[in-house]
Amino acid sequence: MKILLILASDLVYKYENIFSLNNGFAPLSLTTLAASVPEKYNAEIKIIDEGMQKLNYNKLDYDIVGISCCASSSNRAYELAEYWKNRGAYTIIGGYHATLNPEEVSKHCDSVICGFGENVFPEVLEDFVENKTRKIYYAECKQNTPLPLPRRDLIKNINYGAKNTIFATRGCINKCKYCSVNKFTNSNLIKRPISEIVDEIKLCKFKKLFFLDSNFTADKEYAKELMSALIPLKIKYYADVTYDIYNDSELMLLLKKSGCFEVFIGFETSQKSNLKFNNKNNETEKYRDCINRFHELDISITGGFMLGMDNDTEEVILNLPEYVKELGVDVVRYTIYTPIPGTTLFDEYKNNNRLLTLNYDYYDYMHIVHKPLNIEPQRLQELFAKIWKETYLHKNILNRIYGKKDFCYLYMVNLYFKLLQRTIPTKLPY
Ligand code: SF4
Repeated sequence: MKILLILASDLVYKYENIFSLNNGFAPLSLTTLAASVPEKYNAEIKIIDEGMQKLNYNKLDYDIVGISCCASSSNRAYELAEYWKNRGAYTIIGGYHATLNPEEVSKHCDSVICGFGENVFPEVLEDFVENKTRKIYYAECKQNTPLPLPRRDLIKNINYGAKNTIFATRGCINKCKYCSVNKFTNSNLIKRPISEIVDEIKLCKFKKLFFLDSNFTADKEYAKELMSALIPLKIKYYADVTYDIYNDSELMLLLKKSGCFEVFIGFETSQKSNLKFNNKNNETEKYRDCINRFHELDISITGGFMLGMDNDTEEVILNLPEYVKELGVDVVRYTIYTPIPGTTLFDEYKNNNRLLTLNYDYYDYMHIVHKPLNIEPQRLQELFAKIWKETYLHKNILNRIYGKKDFCYLYMVNLYFKLLQRTIPTKLPY
């Protein structure tokens, strides 16, 4: 049995291939899927991450082609599925977009997998062999289900900047209106057994690693238990967390002791009203204390901010570079507030006729795809590019990180974003 697994690319990877220079986190979706293939098939498996590699598909033959995509890469996934279907392969699409929009996706391939693919892939393969496949497969999503050890050997030649990636939890308990993560697991947090995570880190001999959890500290008691188990491993790690953990002193000390060197926090906006509209529990008046606490512990912070929420005005956006400077984050990531298909926000904007395009290629967090309330879309796109540029002026980079313990590392990360900033579109294509 020959199986090809493809991570479809989107426009982000086409701007200037900044990501393929040497960046990005090694994804775990396809390596985990590959690990779930039962040995009895003696399968030959290949993984292609289209954002990082190019392959001449014409020269290859496969029995099964599985494609993973999000909204912005869904058109590319459909193109790939059609191509491989015409060549006689059995085609499957999974991932976020498929899970949130199975009916739409099912029109473009033989089968759709909703949820965590590795939990149902063996059944799909069995049905394929017995010629009784179904249109849609729903993967069960249970706590403590052991995760197969990802087949990292299948991506060892890809030049990811963050290669040693791992999961402790998946999903999120919060209900932010724009977020597809909570929709994927219906606001459940799926936790791995802690001993399994520790064993995986030991087996892979990871010393520096990157947790891909959407919200590493969503369950604080579980996170504390996990961190306690990580301390003896003497590792360094990165994780996405929420701002509110800063006042849990036990958790913060464990975070430090267990080796956390950097976190990503979605601060999202300077406007309280934007947070309320999005069911986001952040309190903007506490951001400064939060950042100070992380810095006291020598943990760096990348702050995420979104532009285009309903209470954003031109003035609010133009103030953002100064706002992030005052907050004192080490790295800044701006994205466009995007109504991802399948989320509550998408339905709301669609019903109110506020979507500018239904071409999901542009749902990549880099293009405005909705009508903002207080700014013209084209103007907002220009402001987006403008504040990226200002935030990544050399003097502003140095101002953020000068004198910090991890200066060299932070400088490289800031330079990477400075390069990315040059690829930001300034004109809307519709
Ligand atoms: S906290 Fe983050 S991951 Fe969780 S629902 Fe909100 S945006 Fe999504």
